[in-house]
Amino acid sequence: MIPSVLPTYSRAPLHFVKGEGSWLIEADGRRFLDLGAGIAVNALGHAHPGLVAALTEQATALWHVSNLYEIPQQQALADKLVAATFADTVFFTNSGTESCELAVKMARKYWHDKGAPEKTGIITFSGSFHGRSSAGIAAAGSEKMTKGFGPLLPGFTHLDWGDHDALEPAITGTTAAILIEPIQGEGGIRPLPDQCLKGLRALCDEKGILLILDEVQCGVGRTGRLFAHEWAGITPDIMMVAKGIGGGFPLGAVLATEEAASGMVAGTHGSTYGGNPLACAVGCAVMDHVADPDFLSDVNRRAGLLRQKLEGLIAAHPDIFENVRGTGLMLGLKCKIAPGDFVQAGYDAGVITVPAADNIVRLLPALTLTEDEIAEALTRLDAAATALA
Ligand SMILES: *Cc1c(COP(=O)(O)O)cnc(C)c1O
Repeated sequence: MIPSVLPTYSRAPLHFVKGEGSWLIEADGRRFLDLGAGIAVNALGHAHPGLVAALTEQATALWHVSNLYEIPQQQALADKLVAATFADTVFFTNSGTESCELAVKMARKYWHDKGAPEKTGIITFSGSFHGRSSAGIAAAGSEKMTKGFGPLLPGFTHLDWGDHDALEPAITGTTAAILIEPIQGEGGIRPLPDQCLKGLRALCDEKGILLILDEVQCGVGRTGRLFAHEWAGITPDIMMVAKGIGGGFPLGAVLATEEAASGMVAGTHGSTYGGNPLACAVGCAVMDHVADPDFLSDVNRRAGLLRQKLEGLIAAHPDIFENVRGTGLMLGLKCKIAPGDFVQAGYDAGVITVPAADNIVRLLPALTLTEDEIAEALTRLDAAATALA
């Protein structure tokens, strides 16, 4: 008999009843150090007092009004994002995949309104992940995500990650945009080197096409900059955001330049919940923390410490680990064993990690992970590796 919850997930037999900062408490009382943070979602940890206050204060005032009316919390969050980034304008969604939908629509509408309606093509890359909507799976293009769900949304060209030579010939008179994650998350913490991101920006400028960045996982302070592309010193035309921006409350956004967004006039797009007062009140509180340069420099300091200790872990367990890669607090341990086995051993040792493709165990802790918690994390990761040896 089919379970009452549609069985699309394979779940670990863990049942958390409470969260505190970087800790999750199981129903049986066990305390787990959470290095997954809901897959890069709980940017400020669980039950952050500032976020709880923002949410409960808004909850007693007003939960929801339609986008038929003005929503001051939404305006405030948009103003914060515009002030802190390349963007001139923001549309709020509820998830990463909805941000992907709008990014694709916006790029196509841009060229339509410029008098080049043939420019509908989007170039994407192997190993990418852009969510589970029809546009998201078509953009990723992998068999794993698309098989059985055809006909797929047309217009996507998939190139091999890292195949520089394929890029220029793939751009034709019908190309609207390039869509890429600055650091692939699900694909296994695969960073696009700064030089390549710079090169992509230059190529888009030369060819006159749009650059769309998917910063759903790597954005919102995760890499030690507010957004990952800042490390390369370039800016996109359109950027997808979600995960960390709501700190655990469902919230996403598409950020864009005035030029790229020029086709999106009244009536062209909308969302019932997108930019809801509860979500935006929390989003404002998240931004007040993560956009603070002192907070980000402290993230970088603690990330450096974690990375240094992980190098020691790898050296101590050469039979389990190959290396560590990633930026800031978006780290991947390349494993010589099945990453799922390590994640399981981590559960037994009281530490939460997340598997990814390319034999990677992901560490995506709360950005507030303390030095003491880093030490505790290493003790537990070492215990997990020792148990597997
Ligand atoms: C998680 C993720 C998405 C999809 O976000 P949802 O909120 O699950 O729809 C899209 N892109 C990237 C890079 C992601 O990590």
